[in-house]
Amino acid sequence: MNVLLIGPPGSGKGTQGERLAQRLGLRHIAAGDLLRAEVAAGSSLGREARQYMDRGELVPDELIIDLLMPVVIKAGQDGGYLLDGFPRSVAQAYEARRLAQQEGVGADAVIYLDAPRDELVERILARAKVEGRADDTPDVVRTRLAVFDEATAPLVDYYRGRGLLHVVNAARPADEVTAGILSVLGLDDDAIDA
Ligand code: AMP
Repeated sequence: MNVLLIGPPGSGKGTQGERLAQRLGLRHIAAGDLLRAEVAAGSSLGREARQYMDRGELVPDELIIDLLMPVVIKAGQDGGYLLDGFPRSVAQAYEARRLAQQEGVGADAVIYLDAPRDELVERILARAKVEGRADDTPDVVRTRLAVFDEATAPLVDYYRGRGLLHVVNAARPADEVTAGILSVLGLDDDAIDA
């Protein structure tokens, strides 16, 4: 199975992505983590991406597609992927779909983690104290939320139109969100244990 996890900053994509991937035996691919690894390694891709990431903007499509799609295709061929943080725009979704379909590894389901704005801001600021991410400062968080509204939110209608979308309420404890996702995928605890 190939699953996409989309949602605004602070909606819990990373946490849920990790849990679900483990639970479902899928490879967890987190776009932001792969980008941060490139930045930490000081690669030329990382150096270019960093300017955008530090401002809270999306890195250019070509860069993220070149970085992610080989990993996504391999994971799809190896038993399935749980992709979090990509695509983040309709243009990325078109290109990712084109490349994935060529290899027979298109997405089977899309989960949208939905939460009210004040809850998201509270979570991001709490995370900032623990993780110290460069892009968790109040100004950059504002930009990331605005970028989500403008570029990423249109994916909700795009995937709804393709009949792949499941909206899950992410404004509750992580265990309940995980259970909610498994349930909309038709994979609740009983089904998995069976
Ligand atoms: P995240 O860890 O998912 O919040 O991503 C951190 C940052 O990485 C974002 O604010 C963007 O600058 C960049 N990024 C992550 N995923 C993408 C993507 N699909 N397209 C463009 N930029 C991305």
